[in-house]
Amino acid sequence: MLGLLSRAYTRAMSRLEDARTVIERFRLDGKVAIVTGASSGLGVAFADSLAGAGAKVSLGARRADQLLQAKKRIEADGGSAYCAETDVTDPDACRQLVEGTLEAFGQVDILVNNAGISDAVPALKESTEEFDRVVSVNLRGSFLMAQACARVMNSGSSIINISSCLALTQGDFPAAAYSSSKAGVLGLTRDLAGQWTVRKGIRVNALVPGYFATEMTQSLVEEPEYLQKVMSRTPMGRLGEPAELSGALIFLASDASSYMTGAEVAVDGGWTMR
Ligand code: NAD
Repeated sequence: MLGLLSRAYTRAMSRLEDARTVIERFRLDGKVAIVTGASSGLGVAFADSLAGAGAKVSLGARRADQLLQAKKRIEADGGSAYCAETDVTDPDACRQLVEGTLEAFGQVDILVNNAGISDAVPALKESTEEFDRVVSVNLRGSFLMAQACARVMNSGSSIINISSCLALTQGDFPAAAYSSSKAGVLGLTRDLAGQWTVRKGIRVNALVPGYFATEMTQSLVEEPEYLQKVMSRTPMGRLGEPAELSGALIFLASDASSYMTGAEVAVDGGWTMR
């Protein structure tokens, strides 16, 4: 017991001796990040900001042409990128994305489990296939990618699972599969944090976005009545900009959050505070 305490004390003291400034601890130079669902929306913004913070990025999603565009843009800006067509519901594809990343960059330090789909079907009309599909991409896909990455990640790595404000609140539109899959992502985050933080040194946290204008929310926010509802429930009174999530993402990905694991970080204009 005394030995354990003394090792914990030595580790804490060596962290205090870290010569980097707080701002420097946000940098990701020398790190390699995988982002799923990086062919559109928030995934593209996440990949851009991880590259901007110094990470080499590996992009996985189903739309190969859009992935290639994102890769080329990051490289044109001076970053390093790899991409592979990936369906996160397929365990082999998840493993191949990780293997391809290792071949390209030699390591995996950060995983952003961002790939997701939504449903907007009244529960009495929702088929079991539709329900299973949403859970399979959002929850099972996050597990498969986390498992494939954790097998090769070193201590100090970070997994960020993208949940949703609809995991914590009801959104005034039908989304049984989506809401329950995103609540499941929070449970997954806590459990993996419990299993891997001490044993493997991998931190696992969840980002909880409110409403952002992307392909996923396009049909909802184009409906004036629903948009009005969202605005009236959002204390900040507006949708978020994808870039506004990036600060919290870089924080969770980097050593700036080295004492955080199993946490849920909401970036939602205040949606979940009431
Ligand atoms: P989006 O539709 O633009 O992006 C989703 C991405 O996931 C796309 O690139 C899509 O190709 C990819 N994808 C879907 N199924 C996949 C699969 N089986 N395998 C691999 N990739 C797959 O939507 P977005 O708004 O950018 O969503 C990104 C994440 O953020 C999702 O997990 C979503 O649930 C979450 N989120 C979004 C909002 C919002 O307001 N936009 C709010 C809360 C949470």
